[in-house]
Amino acid sequence: MMDFSRYLKDYPDAEGRFGNYGGAYLPPELVPAFQDIAKAYWTVSQSSQFISELRRIQKEFQGRPTPVYHCERLSKKLGLGQIYLKREDLNHTGAHKLNHCIGEGLLAKFLGKKRVIAETGAGQHGVAMATAAAFFGLECTIYMGEVDIEKQAPNVARMKVLGAEVVPVTAGLKTLKEAVDAAFEDYLQNYRDTIYCIGSAVGPHPFPMIVRDFQRVVGVEAREQFLEMTGTLPDVVVACVGGGSNSIGMFEAFLGDPVEIVGVEPLGRGEQMGDHAASMRYGSEGVMHGFNSIMLKDPKGDPAPVYSIASGLDYPSVGPEHAFLRDIGRVQYDTVSDEEAVDAFFKLSRYEGIIPALESAHAVAYAMRRVKDMDHGSILVNLSGRGDKDLDYVIEHYGFGERYRDFPVRK
Ligand SMILES: *Cc1c(COP(=O)(O)O)cnc(C)c1O
Repeated sequence: MMDFSRYLKDYPDAEGRFGNYGGAYLPPELVPAFQDIAKAYWTVSQSSQFISELRRIQKEFQGRPTPVYHCERLSKKLGLGQIYLKREDLNHTGAHKLNHCIGEGLLAKFLGKKRVIAETGAGQHGVAMATAAAFFGLECTIYMGEVDIEKQAPNVARMKVLGAEVVPVTAGLKTLKEAVDAAFEDYLQNYRDTIYCIGSAVGPHPFPMIVRDFQRVVGVEAREQFLEMTGTLPDVVVACVGGGSNSIGMFEAFLGDPVEIVGVEPLGRGEQMGDHAASMRYGSEGVMHGFNSIMLKDPKGDPAPVYSIASGLDYPSVGPEHAFLRDIGRVQYDTVSDEEAVDAFFKLSRYEGIIPALESAHAVAYAMRRVKDMDHGSILVNLSGRGDKDLDYVIEHYGFGERYRDFPVRK
């Protein structure tokens, strides 16, 4: 196995590359803005003042560390292996996204910027960003496609109550892609007093690195907690992969360990283009949204249409570091369908009293599949968020999960 002791120092390199992947493919007029933030990040993030302030906020405001939890009942029903969860659903606002938004907000504060901007699709990133902005007293503008605004009324309301300005984007298909373009445009005009905060470990350098660094807390905590609870390391570490932020945060701490690491992508309704968002399985190398990675392409080579029951996973590419970790053979990527995710959603709810986000339910479903074949050992799953946001949809389409009442007990 590759020596990972210098990994964080070596990757990404000065150009933001993880092997072939990453980089910054930008219109020339945006280059200074991104160089600006990369340079500032290097200096500020190393300072002991920044690090100790971030720790204090994580503890007092976010409620970190989040616990690691042993799913005894669920494990017992499935087999002899044990499932453990890292409870990011208990992070303030109910998901991991606040980890990097708080980091980016603190960065803005340290750099003397007075405003943050972000794009959002389903609204989860927008809510986390608006929360961080309120906490730091920063102005906050969120770009959101008009179509998404109509679909995601509760999240739009949350952002507004938190004091953010939500700007409807009316260009093109009026969804996430156009919202990204609008946010870039704003950043170009205003980068002197504004920081752009991307929603996942994607985008041009330095964003994949910044988001990864701020999400690392998840894996660092989980590794230490798991060791303390069990005296050993888990055999398998699992997380769901949309853009790849909760997963990279979880994985990083285990790269140098003799631990199998698996990222789970959404297979949605099936293998046809437009029915899934499994970039690693069906995609190929290409540049989109300013970085080189593995992406799903339509016949013309443009980003393909994607779908998943979990709106946080329907992204036609994946963070560049994941593409690299797959190429060097350190992380495996597998898929879980809508149906399996819904099954896990109900089983975790009924047998552990934890309603997971549909995104996170993909990782739980994978662990449930694997644990059936294990006669010992353990799987640690990053439960990236809670499922309250998904309840209305699930109930409408699947009822209350009545058919899980007789979930058989293994003798
Ligand atoms: C947004 C989201 C995801 C997917 O994003 P990543 O960047 O891949 O982590 C996963 N789980 C939850 C709960 C989310 O809100």
